[in-house]
Amino acid sequence: MKDWGEPRFRARQIYEGLYKHGFDSFDSFTTLSKALRKKLAENFVIRRLRQVDSISSEKDGTRKFLWALGDAYKIESVIIYEGRRTTFCISSQVGCPLDCKFCATGKMGLLRNLTPGEITEQVFRMAEIIGSRPTNIVYMGMGEPMLNYEAVIAAARVLGDVDGFGLAPRRITISTSGIIPGIYRFADEGQPFSLAVSLNSVDDEVRKKIMPVSKKYPIEKLLQAARYYTEKSGRLITFEYVLLDKFNSTQQDARKLVRLTHSLKSKINVIPCNSDEELYRPPSEEKIAVFRESVNDRSRRITLRKRKGWEIQAACGQLYAENERRKKKPKN
Ligand code: SF4
Repeated sequence: MKDWGEPRFRARQIYEGLYKHGFDSFDSFTTLSKALRKKLAENFVIRRLRQVDSISSEKDGTRKFLWALGDAYKIESVIIYEGRRTTFCISSQVGCPLDCKFCATGKMGLLRNLTPGEITEQVFRMAEIIGSRPTNIVYMGMGEPMLNYEAVIAAARVLGDVDGFGLAPRRITISTSGIIPGIYRFADEGQPFSLAVSLNSVDDEVRKKIMPVSKKYPIEKLLQAARYYTEKSGRLITFEYVLLDKFNSTQQDARKLVRLTHSLKSKINVIPCNSDEELYRPPSEEKIAVFRESVNDRSRRITLRKRKGWEIQAACGQLYAENERRKKKPKN
């Protein structure tokens, strides 16, 4: 606005129009002159995501979207309903460089980072489609948020700003697979958002097998970073633990998980795996119950998440992969 010789408050009018009111066309900015609206429309676009696919779970309402970006790369977002919570799970990158073995996105490699606009737009589009706002937002879709730190935080600021989308910042969770420098930076900057770490194993050898990122960032160092964050911020950290039958779901695993994390101000979310691959299946219901019981720790909140959207490939990257498979199938 300064470059165009406009007064400062125009920038705020545009910001609030975009993020507080969610306008999707410059015609809606009636507080601006017609000439300025025209100039904006000639120089900028507001929305870039095109919905390519969407599937819903009949069982639990989980809804998944596949979006094409302006350059035709595709990303996914998911809406998860749990009691009174409506959680929007959003992507931060196209693909992901970290290659977690149980994750379909990991097989794509990293194609590119998302811009802050592409991140926030996932939220706006889903809210428009279902006609209501989320209670929570988690960065647990495609990509490792800490590897696209600036854009992820810029988007989270808009989403958590009272003059922007207006969700309480603590209801926005940045979930990392364990990028240690990112955790320290997040703590040092005093970010107001919540932090989760996908731990998934408390044994370095096993974790290296299922999450190659662990070769660079071992568990002990990761837990040190988690402690630093909790002490510096005075807040809880969430450990996500995806249960994989063949790797991390024994009673000993559960006990070790409690032993290593009980002195940390934390909660644990245990989530049976959502993969459709034979090697990375979830454990049986009985095994899950035993794990849950063994991990029980009165001083902390332990949540066993249900496998949401199991029949609709709700884990990240699965709708993308299915869409690609369908494209390649020869037509009869
Ligand atoms: S689980 Fe997350 S960090 Fe791991 S490969 Fe998939 S998108 Fe990347």
